[in-house]
Amino acid sequence: MDWQGGAVVVGAGTAGCAVAAALASLDLDVLVVDAGMDRTRQLAGELMHPSGAADLQALGFQDALRATGAVSVRGFAVVDATEPSDPSTCLLPYGPLGEGVAMEHSALVAALQASLVGRPHVTVWDASRVVRVARNGADGVEVDVLRPDGTEARVAARLLVAADGRASRVRGMLGIEEENVRLSTMSGTLVDASHLPHPGFGHLFVGGPAPVLAYAISADRARVMMDLPTGAEPTTPLREPHYLRALPAGLQAAVTKALAQDRPLASANFTRLPKQVARGSAVLVGDSAGCCHPLSASGMASCTRDALTLAHVLRERGGDIPAALASYALVRRGPQRTRLNLASALYRCFSEASPEMTALRQGIVRYWMRSPAGRDTSMALLSTRESRMWVMSFEYARVVGHSFAALARRLLKGAVPLGTAVRASLGLVRSTLPHVGEAARALFEDAGLRRAAAASGRRSASA
Ligand SMILES: Cc1cc2nc3c(=O)[nH]c(=O)nc-3n(C[C@H](O)[C@H](O)[C@H](O)COP(=O)(O)OP(=O)(O)OC[C@H]3O[C@@H](n4cnc5c(N)ncnc54)[C@H](O)[C@@H]3O)c2cc1C
Repeated sequence: MDWQGGAVVVGAGTAGCAVAAALASLDLDVLVVDAGMDRTRQLAGELMHPSGAADLQALGFQDALRATGAVSVRGFAVVDATEPSDPSTCLLPYGPLGEGVAMEHSALVAALQASLVGRPHVTVWDASRVVRVARNGADGVEVDVLRPDGTEARVAARLLVAADGRASRVRGMLGIEEENVRLSTMSGTLVDASHLPHPGFGHLFVGGPAPVLAYAISADRARVMMDLPTGAEPTTPLREPHYLRALPAGLQAAVTKALAQDRPLASANFTRLPKQVARGSAVLVGDSAGCCHPLSASGMASCTRDALTLAHVLRERGGDIPAALASYALVRRGPQRTRLNLASALYRCFSEASPEMTALRQGIVRYWMRSPAGRDTSMALLSTRESRMWVMSFEYARVVGHSFAALARRLLKGAVPLGTAVRASLGLVRSTLPHVGEAARALFEDAGLRRAAAASGRRSASA
């Protein structure tokens, strides 16, 4: 055996680095194997909510975060330019949730990886790729790793953690199936941060054909990400400038210039949902355990949460890995369901041109403008601090209420024909039903979870 120990972590992105640190803090010997992809050409997470930043600090990455030149993020500014002559802005501060951080993705991962090297209990094999899961049973795993010199090494561990991203090959090697829906293409370019109208805030521009996200990722540069139809060229907004319609004139001009000068980064956006997150002595974390549209910027906070959850259940269950992984799957299910539902509801709301989603967009802006408590709850949900599905469903219903009010006012003003208003109303009611269904399912499953936890507590007490 070329290496033998407590855990093999496949992938050293945000999830893999966080998991390695969390497992090492339990005194487990950890081998981190990373294929070493070029992240400077990758468009990925750059804004981390306060919960993710706090988790990384708890895992000992505070110096690493500083090394990235990260800037603080106080919340989100939603700019609605549905009426281009009269755009409205709603500020959604994190408030008591703390501050988020934003930085260049490649700088973040390089700093996290550098911080792992030399930690007690951690061995890193870079430029190495897991090519086979040779064995996966209740007593441990064996995997084959292709080393940079072309040889294969066999390693054995009590636990295998697949942190190999949304296109996870290890997930397939474990025989775990997934649902995979391609949503859109994201094009990302860099502009001078002074063009963003609300310094210190992440920006969401809506009211164009699709949402545009923009964050400062250093003191002077901001990433602007444009959501485009699947398969579109990343430079499409140069030929079809209506994609930039929701941006203020100065930012629009800066983005156009940047697109013409430098090839933008691009990424496909997916919803990917594995059918299981644990099998035998193997577990999925981070994007390999499920990903969604990046509009909610929740992917990295979910990665760090997975790391802490895994460490927590392992500590709780002592050496019983299958029992710990069963707990991990249960504990994670609720928050993950809420995160994925929220991302898909927001994406539909801000990208779909149907009468009901147009009304929902107006309703959500009206809700945020009028309700400070609503703003707080929305930010708690967005930042993953609030993870109860019924809270998300209740918020959705409240937004629908505001949408009806906005629709009625537009109907009275003659701004919308009666037929469209009726279609929008029916569509709004229909769009609420899946969230109510999910909330009911979640309450049912949570009750099951509480019963299972109580039964397991009784078993441990009598053992
Ligand atoms: C356009 C876009 C914008 C986003 N914006 C945000 C945002 O603002 N905020 C946010 O929180 N999230 C955002 N996300 C999501 C975020 O990027 C991801 O949630 C996060 O990067 C996932 O990290 P990970 O560690 O799970 O996977 P990855 O970062 O993909 O890392 C996987 C690692 O596994 C390695 N690997 C793969 N296969 C193997 C193998 N067989 N053997 C060994 N190593 C292997 C790779 O080399 C890689 O290093 C965004 C995503 C996209 C696409």
